[in-house]
Amino acid sequence: PPSLYIVATPVGNLEDMTYRAVRILGEVDLIAAEDTRHSLKLLNHFNISKPLTSYFDHNQQFKGERILNALRQGKSVALISDAGTPCVSDPGYCLVRDALAQGIRVIPIPGPCAAITALSASGLPSDSFTFAGFPPARQARRRTFLASLDSLPGTLMLYEAPHRLEECLRDMLAMLGERQIVVARELTKIYEEFIRGSISQVLDAVSQGKVRGEVVILVAPGEAVQEQAEPLEDILRRLLDQEGLSV
Ligand code: SAM
Repeated sequence: PPSLYIVATPVGNLEDMTYRAVRILGEVDLIAAEDTRHSLKLLNHFNISKPLTSYFDHNQQFKGERILNALRQGKSVALISDAGTPCVSDPGYCLVRDALAQGIRVIPIPGPCAAITALSASGLPSDSFTFAGFPPARQARRRTFLASLDSLPGTLMLYEAPHRLEECLRDMLAMLGERQIVVARELTKIYEEFIRGSISQVLDAVSQGKVRGEVVILVAPGEAVQEQAEPLEDILRRLLDQEGLSV
Protein backbone atom coordinates (compact mmCIF):
# COMPACT_ATOMS: atom_id res chain seq x y z
CA PRO A 1 0.00 0.00 0.00
CA PRO A 2 1.15 3.59 -0.56
CA SER A 3 2.88 5.02 2.48
CA LEU A 4 3.98 8.38 3.74
CA TYR A 5 7.54 8.12 5.04
CA ILE A 6 8.75 10.70 7.56
CA VAL A 7 12.49 10.62 6.95
CA ALA A 8 15.08 12.15 9.27
CA THR A 9 18.18 13.60 7.61
CA PRO A 10 21.49 14.89 9.08
CA VAL A 11 21.68 18.12 11.13
CA GLY A 12 25.12 18.85 9.68
CA ASN A 13 27.30 15.84 9.09
CA LEU A 14 26.19 13.88 6.03
CA GLU A 15 27.67 10.69 7.49
CA ASP A 16 24.74 10.69 9.90
CA MET A 17 22.37 9.74 7.10
CA THR A 18 21.06 6.24 7.79
CA TYR A 19 21.19 3.35 5.32
CA ARG A 20 17.45 3.04 5.60
CA ALA A 21 16.86 6.71 4.82
CA VAL A 22 18.99 6.40 1.66
CA ARG A 23 17.10 3.29 0.59
CA ILE A 24 13.64 4.73 1.23
CA LEU A 25 14.41 8.03 -0.54
CA GLY A 26 15.63 5.98 -3.49
CA GLU A 27 12.45 3.91 -3.57
CA VAL A 28 9.61 6.43 -3.16
CA ASP A 29 7.77 8.04 -6.10
CA LEU A 30 7.92 11.56 -4.73
CA ILE A 31 9.99 13.47 -2.17
CA ALA A 32 8.40 16.42 -0.41
CA ALA A 33 11.07 18.76 0.93
CA GLU A 34 11.00 21.97 2.90
CA ASP A 35 13.50 23.68 0.60
CA THR A 36 14.02 21.72 -2.60
CA ARG A 37 17.28 23.48 -3.49
CA HIS A 38 18.73 22.75 -0.07
CA SER A 39 17.62 19.10 -0.22
CA LEU A 40 19.00 18.62 -3.73
CA LYS A 41 22.51 18.84 -2.28
CA LEU A 42 21.75 16.01 0.11
CA LEU A 43 20.02 13.91 -2.54
CA ASN A 44 22.84 14.45 -5.06
CA HIS A 45 25.38 13.43 -2.45
CA PHE A 46 23.63 10.08 -2.16
CA ASN A 47 22.93 9.80 -5.89
CA ILE A 48 19.20 9.95 -5.35
CA SER A 49 17.25 11.36 -8.25
CA LYS A 50 13.50 11.62 -7.64
CA PRO A 51 10.68 14.04 -8.39
CA LEU A 52 10.77 16.75 -5.74
CA THR A 53 8.02 18.99 -4.47
CA SER A 54 8.19 21.72 -1.85
CA TYR A 55 6.28 21.53 1.41
CA PHE A 56 6.83 24.33 3.88
CA ASP A 57 4.90 26.35 6.44
CA HIS A 58 3.26 28.77 4.04
CA ASN A 59 2.02 26.34 1.44
CA GLN A 60 1.19 23.49 3.81
CA GLN A 61 -2.50 23.37 3.11
CA PHE A 62 -2.31 23.62 -0.66
CA LYS A 63 0.69 21.31 -1.04
CA GLY A 64 -0.64 18.96 1.60
CA GLU A 65 -3.68 18.29 -0.62
CA ARG A 66 -1.47 17.53 -3.60
CA ILE A 67 0.72 15.19 -1.61
CA LEU A 68 -2.35 13.38 -0.24
CA ASN A 69 -3.64 13.10 -3.82
CA ALA A 70 -0.43 11.41 -4.89
CA LEU A 71 -0.76 8.99 -1.97
CA ARG A 72 -4.39 8.27 -2.85
CA GLN A 73 -3.28 7.48 -6.39
CA GLY A 74 -1.07 4.76 -4.97
CA LYS A 75 2.21 6.66 -4.96
CA SER A 76 4.55 6.54 -2.00
CA VAL A 77 5.90 9.81 -0.67
CA ALA A 78 8.79 10.73 1.61
CA LEU A 79 8.82 13.92 3.64
CA ILE A 80 12.17 15.45 4.57
CA SER A 81 13.05 18.78 6.14
CA ASP A 82 16.15 20.96 5.83
CA ALA A 83 17.75 19.21 8.78
CA GLY A 84 16.91 16.57 11.32
CA THR A 85 13.53 15.02 11.97
CA PRO A 86 10.49 16.42 10.13
CA CYS A 87 7.68 17.63 12.44
CA VAL A 88 10.16 18.57 15.19
CA SER A 89 10.02 22.39 14.97
CA ASP A 90 9.57 21.75 11.26
CA PRO A 91 6.57 21.32 8.95
CA GLY A 92 4.92 17.93 8.73
CA TYR A 93 2.46 17.55 11.57
CA CYS A 94 -0.60 18.59 9.53
CA LEU A 95 0.36 16.28 6.69
CA VAL A 96 0.79 13.33 9.06
CA ARG A 97 -2.53 14.09 10.77
CA ASP A 98 -4.41 14.38 7.46
CA ALA A 99 -2.78 11.28 6.00
CA LEU A 100 -3.75 9.25 9.06
CA ALA A 101 -7.32 10.59 8.86
CA GLN A 102 -7.51 9.20 5.33
CA GLY A 103 -6.25 5.80 6.35
CA ILE A 104 -2.82 6.25 4.81
CA ARG A 105 0.01 4.45 6.55
CA VAL A 106 2.66 6.76 8.01
CA ILE A 107 6.09 5.24 8.56
CA PRO A 108 8.82 7.04 10.53
CA ILE A 109 12.42 6.61 9.43
CA PRO A 110 14.34 7.68 12.52
CA GLY A 111 17.60 9.58 12.53
CA PRO A 112 19.20 12.80 13.74
CA CYS A 113 17.37 15.37 15.84
CA ALA A 114 19.34 18.36 17.17
CA ALA A 115 17.59 18.41 20.57
CA ILE A 116 18.20 14.74 21.35
CA THR A 117 21.75 14.93 19.99
CA ALA A 118 22.47 17.86 22.32
CA LEU A 119 20.84 16.17 25.31
CA SER A 120 22.80 12.95 24.87
CA ALA A 121 26.17 14.64 25.45
CA SER A 122 25.02 17.51 27.67
CA GLY A 123 25.69 15.90 31.02
CA LEU A 124 22.31 17.16 32.23
CA PRO A 125 19.61 14.85 33.65
CA SER A 126 18.14 12.98 30.71
CA ASP A 127 15.66 10.62 32.35
CA SER A 128 12.99 13.28 32.07
CA PHE A 129 13.00 16.32 29.80
CA THR A 130 10.75 18.84 28.10
CA PHE A 131 11.31 19.96 24.54
CA ALA A 132 9.59 23.31 24.11
CA GLY A 133 10.70 24.26 20.59
CA PHE A 134 11.44 27.88 19.69
CA PRO A 135 10.60 30.58 22.27
CA PRO A 136 8.46 33.40 20.85
CA ALA A 137 10.50 36.10 19.13
CA ARG A 138 8.97 39.03 21.02
CA GLN A 139 10.18 39.70 24.52
CA ALA A 140 6.85 39.97 26.35
CA ARG A 141 5.57 36.71 24.93
CA ARG A 142 8.94 35.04 25.39
CA ARG A 143 8.95 35.96 29.08
CA THR A 144 5.46 34.56 29.60
CA PHE A 145 6.49 31.42 27.74
CA LEU A 146 9.62 30.97 29.88
CA ALA A 147 7.67 31.61 33.09
CA SER A 148 5.28 28.82 32.12
CA LEU A 149 8.25 26.43 31.93
CA ASP A 150 9.82 27.48 35.22
CA SER A 151 8.54 24.74 37.50
CA LEU A 152 8.78 21.78 35.15
CA PRO A 153 10.80 18.86 36.42
CA GLY A 154 13.62 17.55 34.26
CA THR A 155 15.83 19.22 31.69
CA LEU A 156 14.36 21.90 29.45
CA MET A 157 15.36 21.93 25.78
CA LEU A 158 14.89 24.90 23.46
CA TYR A 159 15.81 25.83 19.93
CA GLU A 160 16.84 29.40 19.26
CA ALA A 161 17.93 31.45 16.28
CA PRO A 162 21.59 32.51 16.63
CA HIS A 163 20.78 36.24 16.51
CA ARG A 164 18.31 35.90 19.38
CA LEU A 165 20.46 33.77 21.67
CA GLU A 166 21.69 36.65 23.82
CA GLU A 167 18.26 38.21 24.45
CA CYS A 168 16.81 34.78 25.11
CA LEU A 169 19.47 34.02 27.73
CA ARG A 170 18.82 37.39 29.40
CA ASP A 171 15.12 36.58 29.65
CA MET A 172 15.91 33.09 30.93
CA LEU A 173 17.98 34.60 33.72
CA ALA A 174 15.11 36.95 34.58
CA MET A 175 12.34 34.35 34.46
CA LEU A 176 14.04 31.10 35.55
CA GLY A 177 16.72 32.50 37.84
CA GLU A 178 20.33 31.36 37.76
CA ARG A 179 20.59 27.79 36.47
CA GLN A 180 23.14 25.50 34.97
CA ILE A 181 22.78 25.45 31.21
CA VAL A 182 24.43 23.93 28.18
CA VAL A 183 24.45 25.66 24.82
CA ALA A 184 25.23 23.10 22.12
CA ARG A 185 26.28 24.73 18.89
CA GLU A 186 27.05 23.48 15.40
CA LEU A 187 26.27 19.90 16.35
CA THR A 188 27.96 17.25 14.20
CA LYS A 189 29.82 19.99 12.29
CA ILE A 190 33.49 21.06 12.34
CA TYR A 191 33.01 23.70 15.04
CA GLU A 192 30.75 21.63 17.28
CA GLU A 193 30.99 22.95 20.83
CA PHE A 194 29.22 22.47 24.17
CA ILE A 195 29.31 25.61 26.32
CA ARG A 196 28.53 24.67 29.91
CA GLY A 197 28.04 26.93 32.90
CA SER A 198 25.57 29.14 34.71
CA ILE A 199 23.27 31.28 32.57
CA SER A 200 25.39 34.34 33.51
CA GLN A 201 28.64 32.65 32.54
CA VAL A 202 27.28 31.53 29.18
CA LEU A 203 25.78 35.00 28.65
CA ASP A 204 29.28 36.48 29.09
CA ALA A 205 30.66 34.27 26.36
CA VAL A 206 27.70 35.00 24.10
CA SER A 207 27.83 38.78 24.57
CA GLN A 208 31.52 38.71 23.66
CA GLY A 209 30.44 37.30 20.32
CA LYS A 210 32.06 33.94 20.99
CA VAL A 211 29.04 31.81 20.19
CA ARG A 212 28.10 31.57 16.53
CA GLY A 213 26.03 29.19 14.48
CA GLU A 214 23.01 27.04 15.21
CA VAL A 215 22.29 26.33 18.85
CA VAL A 216 20.27 24.14 21.15
CA ILE A 217 19.79 25.48 24.68
CA LEU A 218 19.49 22.97 27.53
CA VAL A 219 18.54 24.09 31.02
CA ALA A 220 19.08 22.03 34.17
CA PRO A 221 16.06 21.62 36.44
CA GLY A 222 15.63 24.43 38.98
CA GLU A 223 16.62 23.89 42.63
CA ALA A 224 13.13 24.59 43.89
CA VAL A 225 11.73 21.83 41.74
CA GLN A 226 14.22 19.33 43.10
CA GLU A 227 13.36 20.27 46.69
CA GLN A 228 9.69 19.79 45.98
CA ALA A 229 10.29 16.30 44.71
CA GLU A 230 9.66 14.66 48.10
CA PRO A 231 9.19 10.92 47.73
CA LEU A 232 5.51 9.93 47.79
CA GLU A 233 6.12 7.57 50.67
CA ASP A 234 7.50 10.42 52.83
CA ILE A 235 4.53 12.63 51.99
CA LEU A 236 2.08 9.87 52.98
CA ARG A 237 3.98 9.14 56.17
CA ARG A 238 3.95 12.83 57.11
CA LEU A 239 0.21 13.11 56.46
CA LEU A 240 -0.50 9.97 58.48
CA ASP A 241 1.68 11.30 61.33
CA GLN A 242 -0.29 14.53 61.31
CA GLU A 243 -3.47 12.51 61.74
CA GLY A 244 -1.93 10.61 64.61
CA LEU A 245 -1.81 7.43 62.57
CA SER A 246 1.32 5.49 61.83
CA VAL A 247 2.52 2.79 59.47
N1 SAM B 1 13.82 19.27 12.69
C1 SAM B 1 15.08 19.70 13.27
C2 SAM B 1 15.57 18.67 14.29
O1 SAM B 1 15.11 17.52 14.24
O2 SAM B 1 16.41 18.98 15.11
C3 SAM B 1 14.99 21.09 13.84
C4 SAM B 1 14.63 22.15 12.84
S1 SAM B 1 14.52 23.77 13.48
C5 SAM B 1 13.79 24.66 12.17
C6 SAM B 1 16.15 24.37 13.40
C7 SAM B 1 16.77 24.57 14.78
O3 SAM B 1 17.30 23.33 15.24
C8 SAM B 1 17.95 25.54 14.81
O4 SAM B 1 17.52 26.88 14.97
C9 SAM B 1 18.73 25.06 16.02
O5 SAM B 1 18.12 25.55 17.20
C10 SAM B 1 18.50 23.55 15.92
N2 SAM B 1 19.58 22.92 15.15
C11 SAM B 1 19.48 22.34 13.94
N3 SAM B 1 20.67 21.85 13.55
C12 SAM B 1 21.54 22.13 14.54
C13 SAM B 1 22.94 21.88 14.74
N4 SAM B 1 23.68 21.26 13.82
N5 SAM B 1 23.50 22.31 15.90
C14 SAM B 1 22.77 22.94 16.83
N6 SAM B 1 21.47 23.20 16.70
C15 SAM B 1 20.85 22.80 15.57
